[in-house]
Amino acid sequence: MKYLLSTLLFLCSFGLTAQTGEISTDSLMAHVRFLAADDLKGREIGTPGNATAAAYILDRFKAYGLSEAGTEGYRQPFRFYSRFFMSTYNGVNLLAMVKGTRSADSVIVISAHYDHVGERDGKIYNGADDNASGVGALLELARYFQANPAPYSLLFAAFDAEEVGLRGANHFVDEPTVTLQHIILNINMDMIGRNDKEEVYICGTGYHPRLRAPLDSLAEAATIKISFGHESPSPTRADDWTHASDHGEFHKKGVPFLYFGVEDHPDYHQPTDDTERIMPEFYTAVSRFIQQSVLHLSRP
Ligand SMILES: [Zn+2]
Repeated sequence: MKYLLSTLLFLCSFGLTAQTGEISTDSLMAHVRFLAADDLKGREIGTPGNATAAAYILDRFKAYGLSEAGTEGYRQPFRFYSRFFMSTYNGVNLLAMVKGTRSADSVIVISAHYDHVGERDGKIYNGADDNASGVGALLELARYFQANPAPYSLLFAAFDAEEVGLRGANHFVDEPTVTLQHIILNINMDMIGRNDKEEVYICGTGYHPRLRAPLDSLAEAATIKISFGHESPSPTRADDWTHASDHGEFHKKGVPFLYFGVEDHPDYHQPTDDTERIMPEFYTAVSRFIQQSVLHLSRP
């Protein structure tokens, strides 16, 4: 009986740790493994694999206990015509909320796109780094902050249709499910799972220099290299990432953004962007850095 009781206590405390504890490498990698598996066939918008990815994300939001923040529960369906692809698409954003403890009217939108480019010439483009990595971090952050709410409200957005022109994010900022003026910041994650130099970039502080100081102090203590730039006001590199991913749509509406991402690698938009090439320790360090950034920046 005593043994049973201690076993029960152990199981309870283990369950509690899993629920409230730090971002875990195992969970991050489990999300990437699921989303970047061949079964999902590259998660292209409008395909069954994309719908499977959406269902997986929705189930996690629900299991973690986040509030629904879409137009149909967690879902925000949308439809658009792409002149470039000469095709009409149906997309679905997935939106979930953790209400702030002090300034609930101020909202930070934490985002990652879950679609990828699908199949080409019989090859599956699994998109492990682009962007199963961002979605895995989004889910771990959602789990963590649901158990440990921040002073500001956090809206977790898994956007669809990024690969066909940031269309999910575009729809969200055009028809936001919270008042646009209440969105004080977008933190976007796209490709955060690997880098040979163990370096991740933060783009966006050039437009909003007041965001830089808290990140600088965190960067000093980080185990990975944190670099700033890839933006037009003060470029440190020739290429500009201002509109490279969903944060660009927030920027167009005047919402400050921080984009976290690595420089392109040889597997970028190739069928070789696979789970095996994700660097678990680096990926975990980036995800925890983003978690710390959210904590720092969400102090009113
Ligand atoms: Zn991407």
